[in-house]
Amino acid sequence: MSVISTPISNIIPVARPYIGGEEETAVVEVLRSGWITQGPRVAEFEKKFSQYVGCSHAVAVSSCTTALHLALIAHGIGPGDEVICPSLSFIATANSIAYVGATPVFGDIDLETFNLDPDGIAKLITPRTKAILVVHQIGLPAQMHALLEVASAHNLAVIEDAACAIGSEYNGELIGRPLGTMACFSFHPRKILTTGEGGMITTNDGDLAERLRRLRQHAMSMSDVARHNSKKVAAETYDEVGFNFRMTDMQAAIGMVQLGRLGDFLERRRYLAERYNEGLKDIAWLQTPVVPSNCRHNYQSYMIRLLDGSAVKRDAIMQELLEKSISTRRAIMAIHRERPYQDGQYDLPQTELATDTGLILPLFHQMTDSEQDYVLEALHSLSVWG
Ligand SMILES: *Cc1c(COP(=O)(O)O)cnc(C)c1O
Repeated sequence: MSVISTPISNIIPVARPYIGGEEETAVVEVLRSGWITQGPRVAEFEKKFSQYVGCSHAVAVSSCTTALHLALIAHGIGPGDEVICPSLSFIATANSIAYVGATPVFGDIDLETFNLDPDGIAKLITPRTKAILVVHQIGLPAQMHALLEVASAHNLAVIEDAACAIGSEYNGELIGRPLGTMACFSFHPRKILTTGEGGMITTNDGDLAERLRRLRQHAMSMSDVARHNSKKVAAETYDEVGFNFRMTDMQAAIGMVQLGRLGDFLERRRYLAERYNEGLKDIAWLQTPVVPSNCRHNYQSYMIRLLDGSAVKRDAIMQELLEKSISTRRAIMAIHRERPYQDGQYDLPQTELATDTGLILPLFHQMTDSEQDYVLEALHSLSVWG
């Protein structure tokens, strides 16, 4: 297996996609095949993906953002409706709600898991609330049973933003079966399995899956593959306003190779995360990831938190690490602080503390033990803390 391992610089990055020779070969095959978008490779990738997570239907799209957008449309969510979601998430979570004309209503998180706190949900529900958009943040599953209980008591749909959660487990089962009506995955290079850009929606509802397949392709009544294979001249119809959210066959071909590597990816990430946990446990000022006993983390990101810190101190630590060629990232953003979402009245103390004091450490498949030791050593000898 030949692997492209040209480092972008000498800096230890926060993340780096792992793309090997097999991905290259798979793309070349597609390019030479004559069918390069939403064709046989996409269908195959969908099938493999649904088999992997254990759901009935997987629908490939162009990103997780477009997956979330279609999921909300398929649930009939639109103008005037409210959807509960965390503010501590990538802005795409809330943007997808805004795209359909609905309003995101932000719930606070649990400071240990960085996921929606089920106890805070009930008070956010109004007659306009239609759904909860649950995020499995940085790959750690949210407490779904409690959330599903609140949702069913108030007749709300539950959609999972599983952008980061491929390979993660909840009560011993992979995320994506799904636990709500739909789960949406991302294949952006910052996630564990990448196709450059790309997304997948999983569901067990055949009618919803069909609707998603039409919507991703301008609501065309017949797929290109069906038209291509038809023995008679076929005429399609367009019964509603749809979108172009297609995945290309080059992306799907990469995705299939990556799916084959996923077991190795997960194993390496969990190994490195355990090493961080062990190597950091003697540092009193930080909180390492807290994983509830019914969850298995995939460590899409490894986020620590300053227990007695501020954003200023956190940023000083980041600067000192950068001067030692170690790249880190601030915690997950708080969406309610960004301009399009600033107007609401929110009481989100845990979210604000998490976004101000969280710090994402380097973790990627190719990271060596000695690179990680270097990061650990740097964290133990920080002068800003001395
Ligand atoms: C990355 C991410 C998205 C967006 O995924 P894209 O594939 O880049 O559109 C959405 N939600 C969460 C929680 C994410 O981390």
